[in-house]
Amino acid sequence: MKDWNEKCAVVGIYNAYNASILSYYALFAMQHRGQEASGISASNGQKISTYKNNGLVTKVFNENILEKLQGKSSIGHNRYSTAGEDSMNDSQPIFAKYSLGEIALAHNGNLTNAKEVRKSLIQEGSIFQSHLDTENLIHLIAKSHKNQLVDRIVDALTQIEGAYAFVFLSRTKMFAVRDKYGLRPLSLGKITNPDGTEGYIVASESCAFDLIGAEYIRDIQPGEMLIFEGAYSKHIPTPKSIKIFPHNPYPCIFEYVYFARPDSKVFGKNVYEIRKQMGIQLAKEYKIDADMVIPVPDSGVAAAIGYSRESGIPFELGIIRNHYIGRTFIEPTQSARELKVRLKLNPIAELIKDKEIIIIDDSIVRGTTSKQIIKILRHAGAKKIHLFISSPPTISPCFYGVDTPNKSELICANHTLEEVRDFIGADSLVFLSLEGLRKSISCDDSENFCQACFDGNYIDDFTKANL
Ligand code: AMP
Ligand code: SF4
Repeated sequence: MKDWNEKCAVVGIYNAYNASILSYYALFAMQHRGQEASGISASNGQKISTYKNNGLVTKVFNENILEKLQGKSSIGHNRYSTAGEDSMNDSQPIFAKYSLGEIALAHNGNLTNAKEVRKSLIQEGSIFQSHLDTENLIHLIAKSHKNQLVDRIVDALTQIEGAYAFVFLSRTKMFAVRDKYGLRPLSLGKITNPDGTEGYIVASESCAFDLIGAEYIRDIQPGEMLIFEGAYSKHIPTPKSIKIFPHNPYPCIFEYVYFARPDSKVFGKNVYEIRKQMGIQLAKEYKIDADMVIPVPDSGVAAAIGYSRESGIPFELGIIRNHYIGRTFIEPTQSARELKVRLKLNPIAELIKDKEIIIIDDSIVRGTTSKQIIKILRHAGAKKIHLFISSPPTISPCFYGVDTPNKSELICANHTLEEVRDFIGADSLVFLSLEGLRKSISCDDSENFCQACFDGNYIDDFTKANL
């Protein structure tokens, strides 16, 4: 039922010297959003050059490669995925020549009507080279009868449904757009070039801005498209904004729970502060006596600090993380996933032995990580282990660009709280309430978020119809 699709990071750099090097650093900052493949397209005003390959950003690119990606504008992409028969073809940016010239495109998200659109494009004669939803866009743009690229992009966007943050690069322009619900994040920043001229950056997360010294300006609004032009004139105008769809925000609440880096500003708010608030809220909802609060590193750290502060129970770094392996979630088989947890996390036995501990993590998906953690903590001699989760139970899969498994694999969707506790092996198990999560974001009742993975209420009719 669910298609695995790329969940990723996108960046666009406009009017900057060595734009591809800035894209490289931005992608490096956003490596956590995708570790499978990385790519950059750059334009020198005459032609677009693209390089992409499998692996981490530092493995894919070197000085020689970046030197060949010449130009003052570039876009880039990190891919996060578990499938695709030809992984290289399925990496981004996607590049194409068409009747108006050349275009490259990078996408973070998931198009919910991709199958239907692709089917009708194939019936009309299109030939596809990848399994990517994103390739639909290229075909829709190429086939559009409009005369200007901007109109063709708008034309194409009105035919697709789902979640997206797109960056498009033509030989002289760049376009950045968020879907009508603003499900996936995309922020705008300003770059000051060494000669004092200005350029722009758009990126999935603002941590990319910090690394290259760019200044955060604002988020691109849901349904808004920014058009960057004039890179080869002396004074670059501020990007032009077009409202393609009415403002109807439903940003993804899970970005705050897990996906985004804590040092990023996402949907206008700092992620670390929100995660700390989740811990504070959790302590307000569930207060027990224990010897210490221990985070599952790194995903539970900020919430554990918040929990400790609110409850007065000491915070300890009782589990140490080995950073030199990837995330556990992306392993294809269950046994490999279990091994990877052991490779990644090791408890400090001297600290834990004979202690009653509260372990804090951000979420439970399949339950594999938590089960292994409890096992290694028991082995290290913990007396009692309480697992506190700083988000509600994940009960529904995501169709909007976050990598979650099918409903049948989501442990909380198929078992009672007591069954989950028993499977995981904790002495107690609690979750932050959805209301508590929303409070942590300081949103009022009228503020909408997509929270479908926690409450099953999908925001678009297309997804509902295909559930
Ligand atoms: P699981 O072992 O399947 O229960 O996965 C839970 C762990 O995976 C938690 O420690 C989370 O930090 C992490 N996690 C949650 N959601 C995701 C996701 N979409 N992609 C990768 N890891 C995730
Ligand atoms: Fe985010 Fe969950 Fe909505 Fe997906 S279903 S967009 S992960 S809140």
